[in-house]
Amino acid sequence: MHELSIAMNIIDIAGEYAEKANAKVVHRIEIEVGELSGVVFEALEFAMENAKKNTILEKTECSIIRIPGKVHCENCSYEFDTDNVYTPCPKCGDYRQEIIQGRELRVKSLTVE
Ligand SMILES: [Zn+2]
Repeated sequence: MHELSIAMNIIDIAGEYAEKANAKVVHRIEIEVGELSGVVFEALEFAMENAKKNTILEKTECSIIRIPGKVHCENCSYEFDTDNVYTPCPKCGDYRQEIIQGRELRVKSLTVE
């Protein structure tokens, strides 16, 4: 499962950070995930709940922030919002698009003590 390995990776990053900051408790972690990153949000939430067991993040509240997808049409230069890359351009119907926003997958912040 793709999302589980992402979740474990996020927990590794957060764990290293917490260690460096000498944190005893991590209250909250914010993760930014783009709608065009290929990650299934519900699956990632579920994977985080499982992956954080027996780690420093066991009691941490995870919030996943969705970054909307935005693409640029390579044919007519129109920019539009979309949640998948298989949407044709609403202006000209072309499928060739460049992703401007929505590929994000990163730890945005940790609240530690
Ligand atoms: Zn277009």
